[in-house]
This record gives sequence, structure tokens and C-alpha cells, in this order.
Amino acid sequence: MSKVKKKVKVIKIDVDKCNGCRACEMICSSFHATPKYSSNNPARSRIRLIRDPIKDVYLPVYAGEYTAAECMGRDKYVIDGKEYDECGFCRASCPSRDVFKEPDSGLPLKCDMCEDDPPQEEPLCVKWCINDALTYEEREEEVEEEEKLGDMEIGLESLANQYGLQKIMDTVARMSKKG
Ligand code: SF4
Ligand code: SF4
Repeated sequence: MSKVKKKVKVIKIDVDKCNGCRACEMICSSFHATPKYSSNNPARSRIRLIRDPIKDVYLPVYAGEYTAAECMGRDKYVIDGKEYDECGFCRASCPSRDVFKEPDSGLPLKCDMCEDDPPQEEPLCVKWCINDALTYEEREEEVEEEEKLGDMEIGLESLANQYGLQKIMDTVARMSKKG
């Protein structure tokens, strides 16, 4: 299999530097508004602030992958004595919560690293974070060229997205016992 170069973009988050100003939410939502910069609404932002000022919790989280099936359990982090919300660090647009969903359509939101038209050299949320809680890094990695998925794999992938991989595996195991 041949190797190709891949650019990896990283936003480093220093939660101790975040003061919860929400400038990142504002610029993200207005950059992605149609027409551009016509509105700003944190509910449409692809970065969200998990805030609990009484506990001094300010956690910026980026929208990642969409998932149709929620996790069976929940996680809860305690770091330096601060307890974060359940699923607080999770980046998924998931049925279990309201964040990372377009408020009108309910469609999932995902951070595109500001590669939207026109592509930005540096993510705008990073540029607007005057406290340097967000910093940007780029690196190149050599990876194997991805193989194109066949029809069966695409079908299985969409079933797994809808029901979760474990359910598909359980069903296949049940069917093979019957056979
Ligand atoms: S702009 Fe920076 S300091 Fe302000 S909420 Fe976002 S991450 Fe925190
Ligand atoms: S990198 Fe761009 S798209 Fe992603 S959260 Fe920041 S402003 Fe939004």
C-alpha cells in the first residue's frame, strides 16, 4: 500500500487559561452564518463552553463526529478537584444532549477547522481567544492511502452508525446460531 502525506491540525486547549468569555463561540457562529457574519448565536457554534462559574469550570469543547447511537454508559472526570459535567469532554453530536446541533434543523455541527470558504490560515476561535487558552499547531504525518469501501462495508457502516456496532455484532451472532 502506498504512503501519502497528511496534514494534521491541532488546537491545544489550556483550560486553566480560559475565563469563559465565549468570544470563540461568537466568532465561530458568525463565520459559519449564511450570509457570513450576518448573525452570531452560540447555539450554532462548533465550539461550546461548558461553564460552571461557581466551581471555576470553563471547558471549551470542539464539535467532532456525529453519532446516531448514544453510549450505553456515562463518564465523569474530576481533575484538580474540579468535577466536570457527565460527557463534558465528549466531542460527539449525540442524541443524549443538545449541543452541536443546528438549532433550526437539528442537523449535526462539526468543527471544520475554519476550512470553509474562504479557508482561514489559522482557526478563528484561536485568533479570537485573547487569553491564549486555544493555540494552533500543524504537523505532517505519513499515512497509508485509504482503500475505497465496498458496497457491503458502506451498508454495514451505516447500520453501525444507526444502531451501534455492538448491536450489529450481537444480531450477527444470534443469526449464525440459528443457521
Ligand atoms: S475565547 Fe478563549 S478564553 Fe474565551 S471562552 Fe473561548 S477559549 Fe475561553
Ligand atoms: S476551528 Fe473554526 S470551525 Fe472549528 S470551532 Fe474554531 S472557529 Fe469553529
